[in-house]
Amino acid sequence: MILILKKGISDEEIESIVLKIKDAGLTPHISKGNERVIIGLVGDSRAKDRDYWLSVHGVEDAIRVLKPFKLASREFKSENTVITVDGIKIGGNEVVVMAGPCAVEGREQLLQTAEIVKNYGAKILRGGAFKPRTSPYSFKGLGKEGLMYLKEAKEKFGLPVVTEVMSIEQIEDVSQYADIIQIGARNMQNFSLLEEVGKTRKPILLKRGLSAKIEEFLLAAEYILFNGNPNVILCERGIRTFETYTRNTLDISAVPVLKSLTHLPVIVDPSHAIGLRDYIIPVSLASIAAGADGLIVEVHPEPEKALSDGAQSLYPEQFKELIKKLKKVGGAVGRPV
Ligand code: PEP
Ligand code: MN
Repeated sequence: MILILKKGISDEEIESIVLKIKDAGLTPHISKGNERVIIGLVGDSRAKDRDYWLSVHGVEDAIRVLKPFKLASREFKSENTVITVDGIKIGGNEVVVMAGPCAVEGREQLLQTAEIVKNYGAKILRGGAFKPRTSPYSFKGLGKEGLMYLKEAKEKFGLPVVTEVMSIEQIEDVSQYADIIQIGARNMQNFSLLEEVGKTRKPILLKRGLSAKIEEFLLAAEYILFNGNPNVILCERGIRTFETYTRNTLDISAVPVLKSLTHLPVIVDPSHAIGLRDYIIPVSLASIAAGADGLIVEVHPEPEKALSDGAQSLYPEQFKELIKKLKKVGGAVGRPV
């Protein structure tokens, strides 16, 4: 159930409604918009019906949300959620480009990439310090050493950092160094991990699972929201299909579908979706035309030497070209880049 409160309601009146919600054994999630205060009731709301909530002082309307995800839904919050990271707004009108190497491979490699992507127009630096690899024999990242290089790059180039956590134990360290915590595709349904990042207030970049339906993706976001963290960015990164020419299949339709179902920002990762650098530009342009709020793209100064995902990493010149073209498409759809 979602309660829409009367216009101009006082804090004391809200508090008294909150007490009634708690008395009914439910958890209130308050969302204060420009015009209205809305309270989402989470838990078994069968005990008190709609008529009861309509009778409560200060409640203008009570709406039953039939979708399985509640806090992530547009019914709960009609305005877009905008997440601000060091002054950069994700989910606002401007398209935000996050870029960097797949993995932090060393100090020089990271600083060099950070300088390149910054100069060409990236707003946020990506780079994995803890890498989820399919084979146990592959490079698994530099761990804490990698986090330190990310911090150095941030300080040197003024780029906030997004990096992945793979386990609950890594959250504390990663939170100290990163501005945005990434939950990778393989962990989208690691519910204990979702609960723990939900207890932080860090922005969370949640990637769609390899075979996750849109509803499952939104329920994963719901875990984070329900645990108290409203700062979730959704990332479409391709799903498994019968097609093998590309690494995955980018579900471009997920972008407008998600934008209509949820108020959360939606970005696209064309790199992991396609796996081949020469197709990254057109698909990125399509993503912005389809309504994505941003991109997260892999770039490497020397992709042939990359320790992971070299084939999909853009050459610096290609990244420059991407930004140039994005500005045109962004301009055409009223989204400055
Ligand atoms: C990544 O972004 O580094 C990554 C491993 O992506 P995904 O979880 O989408 O495979
Ligand atoms: Mn990668």
